Amino acid sequence: MATERTLSIIKPDATKRNLTGKINAKFEDAGLRIVAQKRIQLTEAQAGKFYEVHAERPFYGELCEFMASGPVVVQVLEGEGAIAKNREVMGATNPADAAAGTIRAEFAESVGENSVHGSDAPETAAVEIAYFFSGLELVG
Ligand code: ADP
Repeated sequence: MATERTLSIIKPDATKRNLTGKINAKFEDAGLRIVAQKRIQLTEAQAGKFYEVHAERPFYGELCEFMASGPVVVQVLEGEGAIAKNREVMGATNPADAAAGTIRAEFAESVGENSVHGSDAPETAAVEIAYFFSGLELVG
């Protein structure tokens, strides 16, 4: 399996509860390397652009408002099969369905306020990483 990079976001429900370190430990324990990271405050418009594939979904407005409700930590995770591995560590979208030990099982508050985002494919990972980071910020 090839070395990949994926875009991860620690969402406002988690930064608010001071869970950045605990979530990062889950990534590192799974063999994912945090090769870039910054804490930022998104506007609703910036969150809306990031999630524009969901624009037609009924929860889109609520999702954009939530993502702009407090700071987020955006990060690039690197490792063997990092995209799938990160989604495994995150757990299912709805914490009620998330496997024991996953980030969402342990920390998520609801299907919407579910603590983390992770890219779902190589193409989306490339676009999402470029949305938040310049090449100069990716030092490996
Ligand atoms: P994932 O983040 O697991 O890839 P999706 O791409 O389906 O999940 O959804 C993107 C985000 O939209 C979710 O992480 C969650 O924050 C929000 N979301 C998804 N489904 C719902 C829902 N039914 N109600 C409210 N928010 C939702």
